[in-house]
Amino acid sequence: MRALYPGSFDPLTLGHLDLIERASRLFDGVVVAVLQNPGKQPAFPLEQRLEQIRTATATLSGVEVGSFDGLTVECARRNGAQVILRGLRALSDFEFELQIAHTNQSLEPRVETLFLATAVHHSFLSSSVVKEVARFGGDVHHMVPSGVAEDLSRLFNRT
Ligand code: ADP
Repeated sequence: MRALYPGSFDPLTLGHLDLIERASRLFDGVVVAVLQNPGKQPAFPLEQRLEQIRTATATLSGVEVGSFDGLTVECARRNGAQVILRGLRALSDFEFELQIAHTNQSLEPRVETLFLATAVHHSFLSSSVVKEVARFGGDVHHMVPSGVAEDLSRLFNRT
C-alpha cells in the first residue's frame, strides 16, 4: 500500500522527518508531496523545499518526493496512493485535521486519511516555530536536519 504525505514543509522539521521514517516502515511507498499554495508566500521556494526533503530522505527506501497543487485526493490518485497521511501533535491540530479528512472523504471515499501521533520529543515542533527561533538567532540544530539549519541561517543572514 502507498501513502501520500502532503504538506507545506516550509521548511522540513525533524518532526516531519520522523513521521516519514516511521511511515516508510509501514507502507510499500511513501510520496512526500509539497503543496504549491499560490495564496501563501513561503519562506523557502518550492525547489529548495523539495531539495531539503530529498537530501534528508535519501537513505530511506520507498520514499519519493514531489510537488502538487490543487486537490490532495487528486494528487493521491495520480500517485496511486490509497492513504493520505497526516501528523497529529496536540489536540489543537485535531479539529482542523478532522475537517480536512472529512472533506477529502466526501470527495474521494476510496482514499483513507490516517493519522500518526508525533514523536513526543518533537511534539512542540512546527515550521513556524523553527523559523521564529532561527530569525532571532536561536539554535535550531535539534529541530531540523542539518541542511535545513544551514538554509535557515542563510535565509536570516546569520552565516
Ligand atoms: P500544512 O501546511 O499542510 O499543515 P505542514 O508542513 O505544517 O503542512 O505539516 C504537514 C503535516 O505534518 C501535517 O499533518 C502536520 O500535522 C504534520 N506535522 C507538522 N509538524 C509535525 C511534528 N513536529 N511531528 C509530526 N508531524 C508534524
